[in-house]
Amino acid sequence: ESYLTRLKLTEPQLNSFLHLSNNVLKEAQAIDEKIRRNEDVGPLAGVLVGVKDNICTVGMPSTAGSKVLENYCPPFDATAVKRVKELGGIVVGKTNLDEFGMGSTTEASAFQVTANPWDVSRVPGGSSGGSAAAVSARQCVVSLGSDTGGSVRQPASFCGVVGLKPTYGRVSRFGLMAYASSLDVIGCFGSSVADAGILLNAVSGHDRLDATSSKQEVPDFTSQFVSATLLESKPLKGLRVGIIRETLDNGVDTGVKSAILGAVSHLEELGCTLSEVSLPSFSLGLPAYYILASSESSSNLSRYDGVRYGNQVVADELNALYEDSRAKGFGSEVKMRILMGTYALSAGYYDAYYKRAQQVRTLIQKSFKAALDENDILISPAAPSAAYKIGEKKNDPLAMYAGDIMTVNVNLAGLPALVLPCGFVEGGPAGLPVGLQMIGAAFDEEKLLKVGHIFE
Ligand code: GLN
Repeated sequence: ESYLTRLKLTEPQLNSFLHLSNNVLKEAQAIDEKIRRNEDVGPLAGVLVGVKDNICTVGMPSTAGSKVLENYCPPFDATAVKRVKELGGIVVGKTNLDEFGMGSTTEASAFQVTANPWDVSRVPGGSSGGSAAAVSARQCVVSLGSDTGGSVRQPASFCGVVGLKPTYGRVSRFGLMAYASSLDVIGCFGSSVADAGILLNAVSGHDRLDATSSKQEVPDFTSQFVSATLLESKPLKGLRVGIIRETLDNGVDTGVKSAILGAVSHLEELGCTLSEVSLPSFSLGLPAYYILASSESSSNLSRYDGVRYGNQVVADELNALYEDSRAKGFGSEVKMRILMGTYALSAGYYDAYYKRAQQVRTLIQKSFKAALDENDILISPAAPSAAYKIGEKKNDPLAMYAGDIMTVNVNLAGLPALVLPCGFVEGGPAGLPVGLQMIGAAFDEEKLLKVGHIFE
């Protein structure tokens, strides 16, 4: 009830949700009943969970923030949602996003712009801006997002919450509406590292409905957590931390840089051994990402033809039906990505763009591997700046894309990364949060969560 009251109070200013469930109290009461009867309830019993609207939920609209899927109600739950429900979690509603996950602010949603709870004149980040804002404003306890190029980590940073992008394949993508299938992963938001870890426990693991989901064993991600009072003086003694040199070069706001350097000295106090590492291909990540993500999206989004799903226009001829349904259904950012993608994939240009971007991807994977052979974790800012004003970059797509420089490489390499608050810069009524990104080896979320838990 307290969460619902808070939702009612804050939602008119924030617009984090596209749809709210009417069944929250009923579901909570049912769990209450079970507890009273001494029946088993799962580890998420009664926990309110926000779900990004590109993740399918049965009986609730799932629009991906697009007019093309307005009013679409899927007949099934995404595997991640199914698992949350089986463990007692209550889906409180569907959170706002940039259409199909394409954007960094939620301004590319077809329906509404979400505001940042720290300063409502600023963006919450994106594309999972609704999920981040909802946890930040305590409208729900935890939330699910998706991260193709930073969409969990950058909004976590902008909204001052914890955001976890798991290893590619750790969480089933079944029921996640595809943007770029080789990069997409469902991720977790929480107001603490422990909360994000508990949610990861719930959603991880192999799923036969997603051929790319991994059979890797799923540990209890929170088993290594210890109470702060039990900590020795140097709990992270011997942990090798590499600071990625290229991420602190020009282009990073000075306030962000000093917050990160503050985090570095905190890690040192905790006993870590720090060194600088160079990832020479780092700056190539951004162009490679935008070519690959657009190419994959141009193919994935061909399924929205006005016949199979969602909105259909009235037309007297089949091609006109396809064309008009897509022309009216997709927003301008999505159309731009489809055009860029089909261009990069077309016969005369494939070698020059798509193939080269794939080669760059391999280089990036190799340089991360080398850096992670020498270090336990790598660190960088989660974004080059704190949250900026709504409208500030809306008409300058290149400036907006440039803001993804810290996160896209991690998706190209398929690695897990944790973002957690590490300081503030000036701005807004109470300062603006800055996020630290910790990157780990594939399937080593456990280490990231342990280090993050001790760090916070
Ligand atoms: N901002 C990036 C993009 O627009 C990343 C989005 C995401 O991770 N879904 O593609």
